[in-house]
Amino acid sequence: MTQDLSNWTIDDSAQLYGIPDWGRGFFGVNSAGEMTVEIDGTKGPVQVSLMEIVAGLEQRGYDMPIVLRIENLLQSRIVYLNETFRGAIAAAGYQGRYRGVFPVKVNQQCQIIEEICRFGAPYQHGLEAGSKAELVLALANLTPGGLLVLNGYKDREFIDLGLWAHKLGHPCFFVIESPAELELLIERSHQLNVRPHIGARIKISTQVSGMWTETSGDRSSFGLSSTQLLAMVETLQAAEMIDCLEMLHCHLGSQIPCLEDIGRGVEEACRYYINLCREGAPMGYLDLGGGLAVDYSGRCSGDGHSRNYSLEDYCQAIVTTIAATLDNTGIAHPHIVTESGRATVAYSSMLLFNILDVMHFEADPLPQPFPANEAEILQEQHRFFTTLNGHDYHQAVILRDRMRQQFRDGQLSLRQRTLGENLFLATAQKVVATARQSGLSSPQISELQDALADIYYGNFSVFQSLPDTWAIDQLLPVAPLHRHDQRPTREAILSDLTCDCDGKLDQFIVGGELRKTLPLHAFSPGENYYVGAFLMGAYQETLGDLHNLFGDTHVASVRINEEGGYDLIEEISGDTIGEILSYVEYSPSVLFDRMRKEAEQAVREQRLTVTERQQFLTLFGDNLSGYPYYRG
Ligand SMILES: *Cc1c(COP(=O)(O)O)cnc(C)c1O
Repeated sequence: MTQDLSNWTIDDSAQLYGIPDWGRGFFGVNSAGEMTVEIDGTKGPVQVSLMEIVAGLEQRGYDMPIVLRIENLLQSRIVYLNETFRGAIAAAGYQGRYRGVFPVKVNQQCQIIEEICRFGAPYQHGLEAGSKAELVLALANLTPGGLLVLNGYKDREFIDLGLWAHKLGHPCFFVIESPAELELLIERSHQLNVRPHIGARIKISTQVSGMWTETSGDRSSFGLSSTQLLAMVETLQAAEMIDCLEMLHCHLGSQIPCLEDIGRGVEEACRYYINLCREGAPMGYLDLGGGLAVDYSGRCSGDGHSRNYSLEDYCQAIVTTIAATLDNTGIAHPHIVTESGRATVAYSSMLLFNILDVMHFEADPLPQPFPANEAEILQEQHRFFTTLNGHDYHQAVILRDRMRQQFRDGQLSLRQRTLGENLFLATAQKVVATARQSGLSSPQISELQDALADIYYGNFSVFQSLPDTWAIDQLLPVAPLHRHDQRPTREAILSDLTCDCDGKLDQFIVGGELRKTLPLHAFSPGENYYVGAFLMGAYQETLGDLHNLFGDTHVASVRINEEGGYDLIEEISGDTIGEILSYVEYSPSVLFDRMRKEAEQAVREQRLTVTERQQFLTLFGDNLSGYPYYRG
């Protein structure tokens, strides 16, 4: 392919990778063609090149891959969420307040939770916990005055810990998801002499579209049916605890792409809220759960990778819907709680990795002239190739398969098979080139095009760092960190280091379209070529697994400063091979000891010298304490 640099601009590149669309002003490209992270400084916007950060981290001894967290982006999201709700509340003359909580399950990492509590402190941004482990960390991090919302199945230990949180003065809400839980809560709160704040989680029958359709509706595994809710009210009335019922909770699902669905869900929730007030509950809080979507594709559309609304639209829809539904009922506007996880943390983290190698699917030059005495099948393939002038390549596939069969039958040599494969590739390329010239496109042609795409090998593990791209086909924006001043001339999918054919990224947003291949720059081994997977701060870190024993990557957290530089705030070394082996119950010292004995035996039998023994043991030890990813 020809390299055409003359009419390629940095803007073209930014558009191609959709950076202004999904980047939301947080990411850009500078005049050197490098991706930047951008923040609003007090004296105007500040930009820092991601390549500059990569270089700084490498100088400090960190190899790729690295999860990079930008503290400012997390802060900016929390401020934006709270301020936008405040704005919508003020504009509508709404009487309640916004009380945000962060659902811990979306990213439990210590540094993230600490930062959320710190940046959220001016807004009393609270935490939501769905298990005992999450409650333990939430309780020990909670900002004074921040709500503590408890979801999930609760046993006695869970409930007791929550009741003690209440005694300590934290506004702790027990969200009841099942009738059995309520009995236990009533019993334990009598024992500990606490009047708990109680919430009722209801199943909303409004079914939402998007990737989590199952979480909503009648068959959702969470929440009370209307029958169970009524029973809960009666139980609380009988126990003279109806005054403890203060919150209605619902969670429509995650990543809800359509604002209309959210509006209908809120309306239904309000009806329940009104009825609970009429049953004598004081209420006061309406918790609408998560669901605020991230525009991963940047397309602002109602599909599962995007959303058809802005944060302003979201806040305004919630505030005005509640107000409109409650007005004329004589019931005061509740405080609005949301549990936005994804939208809070997705932007702040990205996975940075380098490219190690490329596999091309390109024909080598064919022998000229084509040997007349070649095997008949190869002659046929060659004839088809030379006479082809359309785009019907069906016959080429038949000939290739026949050629492969003859190889299996022992009639063709390795050299002949290679020539046959090459003839097929040459034919496929000719088909694609002809179709491109005539502006023709069909599903078959694009399939063929995808099959001819390069495979770029990246230094990362999908299963460890981007598990949702594998498990639920999550789309994440991916782009090179540099060379945006050059036209990308290759089409590629990205393969990771695992020996698993699912270890790949093959879904991209390119020029606003969903595609199976990503344009990348030509690469030759030994070169430095860096790529980023963005918006990966939500759910990925603790869902990741040890497939092929690739462990946690290094994590670096930086703060962009006013001077246009960055401060390294925190560095967390990734798992060493020894650490990973201990997760699967090996003892690194036992392994080392075994090798030492074996090496000593080899010395005794004169297969190794003592110096060689030491060389080998040093190598073995270095591997045990080393990074499992590829090191150049
Ligand atoms: C997962 C979850 C959330 C977070 O949802 P996002 O879509 O990430 O904002 C909030 N509340 C509950 C109850 C959840 O289970």
